[in-house]
Amino acid sequence: MTSGNEYDLVVIGAGSGGVRLARTSAAMGAKVAIVESADLGGTCVNVGCVPKKLFVYASHVREEIEDGAGYGFQVPPEQVGFDWPTLLANKNREIERLNGIYGRLLDNANVTLFRGQACLESSQCVGVGDTSLTADRIAIATGSWPWIPDIPGKEHLLSSNEMFYLDQLPGEAVVWGGGYIAVEFAGILAGLGVDTTLIYRGDLFLRGFDSDVRSFVADEVRKKGVNLRFETNIEAVSRVSEQHFEVTLNDGSVLHTGLVMAATGRRPLTDGLNLEAAGVELDSKGYIQTDNHFCTSSPSVYALGDVIGTPQLTPVALAQAMTLSRHLFGDAEGQMDYRNIPTAVFCQPNIGTVGLTEEEAREECAAVRIYRTDFKPMKHTLTGREERTFMKLVVDDESDRVVGAHMVGPEAGEMMQGIGVALKAGATKATFDETVGIHPTSAEEFVTMREVSSR
Ligand code: FAD
Repeated sequence: MTSGNEYDLVVIGAGSGGVRLARTSAAMGAKVAIVESADLGGTCVNVGCVPKKLFVYASHVREEIEDGAGYGFQVPPEQVGFDWPTLLANKNREIERLNGIYGRLLDNANVTLFRGQACLESSQCVGVGDTSLTADRIAIATGSWPWIPDIPGKEHLLSSNEMFYLDQLPGEAVVWGGGYIAVEFAGILAGLGVDTTLIYRGDLFLRGFDSDVRSFVADEVRKKGVNLRFETNIEAVSRVSEQHFEVTLNDGSVLHTGLVMAATGRRPLTDGLNLEAAGVELDSKGYIQTDNHFCTSSPSVYALGDVIGTPQLTPVALAQAMTLSRHLFGDAEGQMDYRNIPTAVFCQPNIGTVGLTEEEAREECAAVRIYRTDFKPMKHTLTGREERTFMKLVVDDESDRVVGAHMVGPEAGEMMQGIGVALKAGATKATFDETVGIHPTSAEEFVTMREVSSR
């Protein structure tokens, strides 16, 4: 396939999207190189989905032990010891194992790995240190990076990157932000016993999620002991001593805390790529501009994943990679379909969601039917815990199609994968109603909601 160039494809960034693109392209016969400046696996493996979920598991354990009392297992609270360094070391070992697996996957796929910071030398040449790699096509999969507002004391703020490597857990923490990463970390910290305050400038966190879900989660997160302060912002942070920070809020009040995490957004990572050398253009928010086939303004340069401003999720980057490799080296002309992407937020309890929010459906459909239920999960009939589960179906009244499904409750993410298949297949409310439930589960509520809650 080569045409004087050394490679058919050079991929920049060995994260979720880059590794999948390199492997699938190589499997279709392309000669592929990949360049990575940090650890293999990118954000998801090293400072994202994987370590986050391990921390989420950890943060549930204390509650499980407490809940055990209702089932006859009594562990006195003073006997529940939690050792942060053990969790950190075990997590690090698992991440290193995954780094190794990613290396072997690339090796076995005959993809050549170059270590170092890549930059574009032209639209068909990538520089890594002193080496220049020529390629028919280049793909940029460099991901995104935490973005923190420029406030006095910014240097004292920790991003999610650093939160995965804390030497010790403080007694108190402030989490700044209202997106899913902020809410997940607030849950992790609170679950591990840290007195946690979440500060968000808007009136309710999780913008973009269904509004019932947002308010239900706020109630549940409060029950878990997180202090939610909406319509509040941080103006400055100063360090009093090693683990003592003063946080000045916009209402003039001052919080004293042991750590301040900023989960205030992410920006596309294009630093040092020298995109001008290939004529690759950015949009107004700094994302690399692409067409429906991930081609940039330079015909031989492609981009995918977090760096192009599509939903910033690992399965999206993976699906884009497979679509692009088939487009470049297979026979498929297919495009990525961004409708009905199921997602989860691993806050406590979890959110699982797929399809349209009620607000979006009201814009898109002439008429909608909304089905809602909330209940105490069976497990908590014996634990006494005041946690509730919420479920909602959004139905297009005309076609009877279920256009959105939302849940807040244990394992909502696990449940939503299957519901996602149903929505993708175009399931109607009648199909949900005809489906026999699994008893006794929370999931069966999804097929037993009969009463319209609102129209
Ligand atoms: P990345 O995986 O970030 O990979 C980019 C790679 O490029 C990196 O390894 C980087 O070092 C490398 N690179 C950058 N510039 C250069 C250069 N010039 N030269 C060489 N290499 C370079 N998604 C989910 O689906 N579920 C979750 O639960 C979830 N949780 C998350 C939690 C957190 C805290 C964060 C931050 C993200 C989470 N995500 C989650 C999002 C997910 O991690 C990203 O969407 C995904 O990793 C994007 O993949 P990517 O290939 O675009 O970029």
